[in-house]
Amino acid sequence: EKRGKRVDIGKNLIHDQERCVLCRRCVRFLRDITQTQELGVFERGNHTEVNIYEGRPVNNHYSGNLAQLCPVGAITDRDFRFKTRNWFLESGDSICPFCSRGCAITIDYHKGFARFPVAKRVYRINARKNSKVNSFWICDVGRYGYEYINLERQKTLSGPDKNRDYSWEEILSDYSKRLNRQRFSNRTANITIICNSWMTNEELFLVRKIFQGDLPNSRIQLLDPPDEKGDNFLLTPERVPNRRGAVELGFETNPLDMETLKEETDLLIVFGTYLLEHSNRSELEAVLGSVEQSILFTPYPHELNELFDMVLPAALIPESEGSLTNVDGLVQPFEKVLEPPGESRAVWRILRDLGKSLNIHFPYYKGLDSVETIRTELGKEISFFRK
Ligand code: SF4
Ligand code: SF4
Repeated sequence: EKRGKRVDIGKNLIHDQERCVLCRRCVRFLRDITQTQELGVFERGNHTEVNIYEGRPVNNHYSGNLAQLCPVGAITDRDFRFKTRNWFLESGDSICPFCSRGCAITIDYHKGFARFPVAKRVYRINARKNSKVNSFWICDVGRYGYEYINLERQKTLSGPDKNRDYSWEEILSDYSKRLNRQRFSNRTANITIICNSWMTNEELFLVRKIFQGDLPNSRIQLLDPPDEKGDNFLLTPERVPNRRGAVELGFETNPLDMETLKEETDLLIVFGTYLLEHSNRSELEAVLGSVEQSILFTPYPHELNELFDMVLPAALIPESEGSLTNVDGLVQPFEKVLEPPGESRAVWRILRDLGKSLNIHFPYYKGLDSVETIRTELGKEISFFRK
């Protein structure tokens, strides 16, 4: 008797029973790790099979791990199966950015063909072993959330004159002049920076150095999404990867006061997309209409980008390097896996170059030639980050 082919065992999983070698790894995972026990071993002898209990599909938050732990590919991932060939993919180690646990992951990406377009850049996220954080597992939020890397991107620098091209050097030099004018006229308190806990320890350190040290009294606002429900295993309520790092660097999350922003800001610098996604056009128009100049660092095009005077393309976490501090205070360095598209740059590079162009402590910023150097400087100033 033939065993089942393409059996639907959950929203993310397909089971080819004819490939199954009855090792029972999947059954033990659901019994010992998630303790949800959706799979069991049924029948006897030649008819033995692994299957779900009737009406109880494997829909727990960690279901994707089954496709990774099955040794013979009998359980496959609905999202990945037959979308591309494994041998076309390259793999890079990274850290999941979707919550403050900071699970270790590998990003499987397609380098592309010389003569044919490929459907997407990243095809799969897998769990990577880290016994201090996630053991061998990741949740489905981290495993299937990777489409943020494949979305359409902001690839060019856009300035006030939409009909011409801008370069990073030109924009940074122009902006540092404006920042210095604020400094000379003692109006640094009217500079507002909106950053977020998707930024790395090194990037937030540079924000602190520039906007609290070189340009003292600038207003720094950490703008993060509200906490969501965590679970009792890996997923935490903080759906950002570096809240703990931001807190250790002295940043606090406060609700954004649009009225103060409107009335007391000359120069507005925004990192990330959260403000755009959670404001309506008229509200943002009122704020941006009243500030002298606004600048947005973002990875994505957005209908509200056009309201900013300058829109500059920023790299995503997998396209950059740095470190993130997880919920338990573990500082985890990560390397670049993917090339940033177009003219996008890593935010730490942009900030380092801005520090240089300000020309207040030029030799200091010139010496920051890598994230490792910045991390060393960070450790010198804040003992929490010292190795
Ligand atoms: S892990 Fe794979 S091979 Fe092992 S029992 Fe489960 S489905 Fe079968
Ligand atoms: S628990 Fe958090 S860090 Fe880990 S995979 Fe899930 S979302 Fe990512």
